[in-house]
Amino acid sequence: MLGRVARVLRIMGFDTEFFRDEEDMRILARCLRERRILITADRELYRLAKGWGLKVILTSPHRIDPWKFSEALLKALGIEDCKRPFVRCPRCNGELVEVDREELVGFVHPYVWNRKEKFAVCKECGQIYWEGTHVERMRRRLQED
Ligand SMILES: [Zn+2]
Repeated sequence: MLGRVARVLRIMGFDTEFFRDEEDMRILARCLRERRILITADRELYRLAKGWGLKVILTSPHRIDPWKFSEALLKALGIEDCKRPFVRCPRCNGELVEVDREELVGFVHPYVWNRKEKFAVCKECGQIYWEGTHVERMRRRLQED
């Protein structure tokens, strides 16, 4: 469930790491080192994080709407005005760099290429995104999961 929240937060432009099957100590160390806010549904991890003096939010492990949850989270943290869409790859958290559309001839479907002005590529995984459909497409994909 939190994996979907992570993708939504990336769509909104936030640097968001997602840990699965990672040791608690490693998670805590990374949060501390990179000054990250920890969001977890694990009570034990929550308790440990508090002990480490980390900023941590405990969520319920029940089904949550990732979009509503993310909006509420930003509001609670007072950073709802910090959204910057189109800067993070929802898939891997890599940085998106804008590319000249001429460079993408043959790499994106001509239908898209002809209709979109702004394109970006993920520096990490190479995924190509275009503005407009970027958010809608991800929203659809998240609903399909
Ligand atoms: Zn990527």
